[in-house]
Amino acid sequence: MKTYYDVIIVGSGPAGLGCAFELSEHSDKSVLLIDKRKISSGGLRNDCKQNYTFPVGFPTDLWDREQTTVLLDVAAAHLKPTYHSGQQMDLYAERAERYGVEMLRISQAHVGTDKAPELIKRLISKLEALGADVALECEMRNVDYAQKSITLADGSVLQFGDLVLAPGRAGFEWLQMIMQSLGVEYIDNIVDIGIRLETREEHYSIVKDYYDPKFYFPGSVRTFCTNSGSAHVVKEKYEHYYSVNGHSLSHEREANHLVNFAMLKTIRLTDPVASGSEFAKILGQMAMQLSGGEPMMQRVGDFRANKRSTRRTFNDDLYDFEPTLKSATPGDISLAMPAKILRDIWSALKTLDAIVPGVLHPSSILYYPEIKTYANKPRFIDSHFAIKTHIYAVGDGAGTSRGITAAWASGIRAAHGIMGT
Ligand SMILES: Cc1cc2nc3c(=O)[nH]c(=O)nc-3n(C[C@H](O)[C@H](O)[C@H](O)COP(=O)(O)OP(=O)(O)OC[C@H]3O[C@@H](n4cnc5c(N)ncnc54)[C@H](O)[C@@H]3O)c2cc1C
Repeated sequence: MKTYYDVIIVGSGPAGLGCAFELSEHSDKSVLLIDKRKISSGGLRNDCKQNYTFPVGFPTDLWDREQTTVLLDVAAAHLKPTYHSGQQMDLYAERAERYGVEMLRISQAHVGTDKAPELIKRLISKLEALGADVALECEMRNVDYAQKSITLADGSVLQFGDLVLAPGRAGFEWLQMIMQSLGVEYIDNIVDIGIRLETREEHYSIVKDYYDPKFYFPGSVRTFCTNSGSAHVVKEKYEHYYSVNGHSLSHEREANHLVNFAMLKTIRLTDPVASGSEFAKILGQMAMQLSGGEPMMQRVGDFRANKRSTRRTFNDDLYDFEPTLKSATPGDISLAMPAKILRDIWSALKTLDAIVPGVLHPSSILYYPEIKTYANKPRFIDSHFAIKTHIYAVGDGAGTSRGITAAWASGIRAAHGIMGT
């Protein structure tokens, strides 16, 4: 590692990679990509479903269709997707329309958590062959704007010409701290809150025809991140709570015949504008309080009967499959979730049950909370996501994306700003 680089990129997730590839392929700038983790490439490691259709993953206040189409093609040239083909799409779309629900038809590819390391290895080798330096277990702590330098966790100091911050969703609070130190204004008034539903594949059979069905319901509620085949619900650690999430292995792995997907409601806090992440933290902590520091789970049969789920009866009778997130605590979601959110999500689930009958089988499990706090909204000073002259903030942590391909596209946009193209 040298002590000066034309561009230092912090975070080797898809946003950082998109930026690093664009610069390495189209300029002679020296590039350093750093990541605090041992393994690179951030969220590419999980599941790695790639969506190639606007607006999936793209905040529409920052992106338009024309621009994304071009950048998604660039991302695809690196990620080399094998697209899923949808079956009976008209049938599902018509059913959805009958209930006032929009179904998106998307181009999507899936890699699988077990196959993602191969993809990551290939990308990093290719990037290094292009001349970029990659440093893992290398954490940025602070920035000195006047000196154009960053300090790493081991105390060393690196100088930059341009700095790109791409710390992802888990780096949301760190990015806020950096923005405060730079005097950059931001708001984070938007947050997605919801549940993750897990059921047998036969109860959500649409996944055989449409890999990751995207339904948009009234009340700003949508389905998100559907996993099937060998599908697992997992927990993600945040500073004060766990959020649930889901992923699946590649089709080469033995199937467990389960499906999971999130049903999320977007909350936009307006007047007085409050912090979405603080709101989410309170809700997350409330769930942790009620369920012994773990996510909560409830069978749909118990939920309908207005009964909490208990460990003793969790696998009784009709409740005939085991939860994949075994550490979750059986409980009562309605005790932890604000009424407005619960009402809209339950209403969307009932509508979904009309579109794909069976999803609300009594054995289906509702996990809570699933929280997405990716809506930091920095005051960008240009259309390339600069937050100060020579400093850019991109990806899920900076609110310019909500998924792998959009994060990649965000990195390209910052690279264009740096190259002046
Ligand atoms: C379980 C799970 C499953 C998912 N499945 C999908 C999916 O199938 N499809 C999809 O589109 N999206 C999925 N996502 C979301 C996806 O991972 C993100 O949208 C995407 O990775 C965002 O890219 P990013 O580059 O902004 O951030 P990230 O991919 O999160 O990368 C940020 C990187 O920055 C590093 N970093 C943070 N702070 C510092 C610092 N101070 N110094 C150095 N390095 C730092 C982190 O270690 C990390 O590697 C999933 C997420 C999870 C958790």
